Amino acid sequence: MLIELPQKRVIKQTMQILNGKELARIMKGEIKSKVARMVAQGKRPPHLAAILVGKDGASETYVNHKVKICREVGFESTLLRMSDKVTEKELLDQVDRFNKADFIDGFIVQLPLPKHIEPNKVIHAIDYKKDVDGFHPMNVGRMAIGQPCYLPATPYGIMQLLECYNVPTSGKHCVVVGRSNIVGTPMSILMSRNANPGNCTVTLCHSRTQNLATYTKKADILIVALGQPGFITADMVKQGAVVIDVGITRVPDKNKVWGYSLKGDVHFPTVSPKCSFITPVPGGVGPMTVISLLLNTLKAANKEVYS
Ligand code: NDP
Repeated sequence: MLIELPQKRVIKQTMQILNGKELARIMKGEIKSKVARMVAQGKRPPHLAAILVGKDGASETYVNHKVKICREVGFESTLLRMSDKVTEKELLDQVDRFNKADFIDGFIVQLPLPKHIEPNKVIHAIDYKKDVDGFHPMNVGRMAIGQPCYLPATPYGIMQLLECYNVPTSGKHCVVVGRSNIVGTPMSILMSRNANPGNCTVTLCHSRTQNLATYTKKADILIVALGQPGFITADMVKQGAVVIDVGITRVPDKNKVWGYSLKGDVHFPTVSPKCSFITPVPGGVGPMTVISLLLNTLKAANKEVYS
């Protein structure tokens, strides 16, 4: 898919913002049209369910946002709240109920979970055919060998951004900073696959990497997901690099009504003039993550990945 986007030239003529907010707006409209067509054909709309355990502020915001976007594109949605005192067994029983519910096409269990619950046990209990977060080992394994699967939402969103903005990736050196199961590791797999976007030579860095800057400075494409605001500075980035900033950290900000602003892992003011493409925070990767969840749910409803 190639979407025509207005060519936004910001700062020097050489740097282009990868505008996730705008792309997400366009893709949301496309999803809404597809849902309307399904309903016109007599099918029921896709149904995404979410389980939220406890009252973590950020998780609450993310889940409410996902449910809101579902409604805006015409999906059905169910938000099930469980107390932070819920036992692992009670949560697993609920997962089982959603696995068996015919009216639910896909569902997520919002992370993080309270400490007494083992997240992998919960993720593994989700029916992989309904695992629209793409965290189940079946989906992760199929992703690694290039088989149809649900891609994890954030890496999927980044791939959409690279594809829709026609960012060249083949033969490039991609450096990923951060190796979490939900962002860094899948990102490194996707960028090394024989596909477009992809076909990169990939280096995966983490907290034990020595002399990190020697790697980041060699990156044609630098993808950063560590959660430390402003960590990547201009001296760590090659001239002309593509920089994808996944980090979102709430930093106290008295000038904002809600008391904080969102900061990325990249020091945008000094890094952006060196880049060919860069994602802003907010408005870059974040909006694409939610769209990817909707795309996976749409695929689940239409049985495009698994019959
Ligand atoms: P994790 O905390 O799970 O992983 C952080 C990674 O960064 C780890 O692999 C860690 O290494 C590495 N790291 C930490 N410090 C350093 C360092 N000094 N040098 C090199 N590597 C380091 O985070 P997530 O992957 O879940 O999230 C990362 C960021 O992305 C967060 O800000 C999060 O909020 C954001 N995020 C944004 C999303 C979006 O939609 N935009 C979605 C998901 C996350 P090690 O493995 O050795 O500990």
